[in-house]
Amino acid sequence: MHEMSYMINFINMAEDAAKKEPEAKISAIEIAVGEMTGLLPEYLEKYFPEASAGTRCAGARLKIDYIPVRVRCNDCQNIYHPDRDHSYRCPSCASNNATLIEGRELELKNISLE
Ligand SMILES: [Zn+2]
Repeated sequence: MHEMSYMINFINMAEDAAKKEPEAKISAIEIAVGEMTGLLPEYLEKYFPEASAGTRCAGARLKIDYIPVRVRCNDCQNIYHPDRDHSYRCPSCASNNATLIEGRELELKNISLE
């Protein structure tokens, strides 16, 4: 259920970003959500109408860029998506010395005004 509070947060950010054009309608908002956040895009979408009701985002189109986790192996520089099948190890050299490069995103990327 914490998707709801994140969605409300995004809506607050969108309204903040639209402050300088109080007459405009917010027609779309675009957010980036990384896999590491544990948030599920389908729940964000599901809660959006309820979270946006009565706000300037009501009726806006929600676009979610869901960003899978990607890490870079520090031993062979391979870039991969860690998964349980490989015990989160590098599939090419089996090292588990890796650096996260993508997947922690949680940001409002864009809003469209009409
Ligand atoms: Zn490797």
